[in-house]
Amino acid sequence: MEKVKILNINFSNYTLSRFLEIFHSRIKEGKKTFVVTANPEIVMHAKKNGDYYRTLQKADYITPDGIGILLASKILKTPIRERVTGYDLMGELLKIAEKMRWKVYLFGAKEQTLEKAYQNMKKKHPSLHIVGRHHGYVDINDPRVAQEIETLEPDITFVALGFPKQEYWIARYLDQFNKGLFLGVGGSFDVWSGEVKRAPKIWIDLHLEWFYRFLKQPWRLKRLLVLPEFLIKIILLRIKECIKNDESAAHQFRK
Ligand code: UDP
Repeated sequence: MEKVKILNINFSNYTLSRFLEIFHSRIKEGKKTFVVTANPEIVMHAKKNGDYYRTLQKADYITPDGIGILLASKILKTPIRERVTGYDLMGELLKIAEKMRWKVYLFGAKEQTLEKAYQNMKKKHPSLHIVGRHHGYVDINDPRVAQEIETLEPDITFVALGFPKQEYWIARYLDQFNKGLFLGVGGSFDVWSGEVKRAPKIWIDLHLEWFYRFLKQPWRLKRLLVLPEFLIKIILLRIKECIKNDESAAHQFRK
């Protein structure tokens, strides 16, 4: 299945490498692309907030970011191939961008964090063409960053304002741009700056990255509590589906 619906959000069911192929060809063709990397918090926020739901509808691709999404897809018997995070997509896109000499714009995080992230990216990818950057503490109604991006015409803009602000920002200014891939990447610049450590591989492989993040940033507990609520909704949905299937099977049998 190419699309998997989870609580009314349509996820693209591709592997990381397939996403990269698709984005590569869209960038080559100069097609404008809006990508959301959605975890259970994003799905739940969209469920409770109509504006945000409509904003996500404008995305060209929604990637499954988080083990909670994969688990939900399994419960609903429409399994998603793999987890595709904003951080991983960004890392791979930077490699391709360096090779292809694509123009990259960085938007988000605190001024100092962004600066460190920028320096580390240049260290890792010396030929990377970063055409501009701006910290993320701007009012969403302030059009100046969008105007700069419109003029610079980057091939990829990484938008690291955290959700829901990054999706609102992209959706709001998208029409203004002629080309480019716009990817919401949450706290990725914090990791690039070295201020936040990503979980060691073993934690990621054991699907415990969320727990590692909680141990490192315990103030995120409130956000983590959305996960059980999300899974309960998914389980109830599955039960409802099973009851419906049983009823229609009984109906067929009686006929
Ligand atoms: N941020 C920003 N502008 C804002 C609010 C947040 O640039 O108005 C940045 C913040 O500095 C951090 C990122 O957005 O770098 C949010 O990270 P978080 O881990 O909260 O995002 P998530 O990955 O959970 O969406």
